[in-house]
Amino acid sequence: MDKLCFLTPGIPYSTKGKKSIENGLKRIKEMGLDGMEIEYVRGVHLDYVRAKEYGQIAKELGLTLTAHAPYYINLYSNEKEKVTSSYNHILNTARMLDAMGGYSIVFHAAYYMGNKPVEVYPIVKERLKEIADIAKKEALKVWIRPELMGKKTQFGSLSEVLKLTKEIGCNIMPCIDFAHLHARYGKHNTYEEFAEVFEEIKNELGEEALEDMHIHVSGIKYSDKGEISHLNIRKSDFKIREFLKCLKDYNICGVLVCESPNIEGDTLLLKLIYESM
Ligand SMILES: [Zn+2]
Repeated sequence: MDKLCFLTPGIPYSTKGKKSIENGLKRIKEMGLDGMEIEYVRGVHLDYVRAKEYGQIAKELGLTLTAHAPYYINLYSNEKEKVTSSYNHILNTARMLDAMGGYSIVFHAAYYMGNKPVEVYPIVKERLKEIADIAKKEALKVWIRPELMGKKTQFGSLSEVLKLTKEIGCNIMPCIDFAHLHARYGKHNTYEEFAEVFEEIKNELGEEALEDMHIHVSGIKYSDKGEISHLNIRKSDFKIREFLKCLKDYNICGVLVCESPNIEGDTLLLKLIYESM
């Protein structure tokens, strides 16, 4: 990507008429935003005809599409059925987004389920590698991204998502959720700390990773156990100016999805401040 695109998480509230993806995309264009992350969080309905239509509309409007896979994924489950359905959720999300000509998909990889992170990592890696291989065989042209997670019981620390990317390679890249990062460790909320994250990504994955980022942000409420809930930015402690300045200074490209409860309000706020800098 040659710029940073600002995407809404799903269909904007202010969409006129029926709250459909088609109308949502038109509203996103009207507001001057750059695209939508399609929320398959409750499940994926495999419909290639529809997907191609969404892709066509997005293309005509010059918008970028990404997708969020269903929440019911756990690559560390010891139940065969759950593992199979996790594979299907991730791959079906990728298949639909690929049919749309979209950019990348994100998913919540796993839970530690009371086990040590070092014991969980190899299992998640082995299974994600299989998923990456299937996606490659099917020639799916979208990034598949494990998300940095906000609760300490969830697999997906910064180092885990970077390690998966480094070790599997191919079509795997991280989704860096800065709200989750802040909630998980209680820090990462100053210019220097944001810069440290980009430095770490650069060191681990190479400079080009900064040109293909998938970022999530929002305000966030948290405790010592990590994330409690997402908040609108103005109701949170998120230092947006320092964050946006850092994105500019590092020339970060790719997509930024603002997952605040007010959907388009905060996405627009971030884009306007970013552009004014
Ligand atoms: Zn997510």
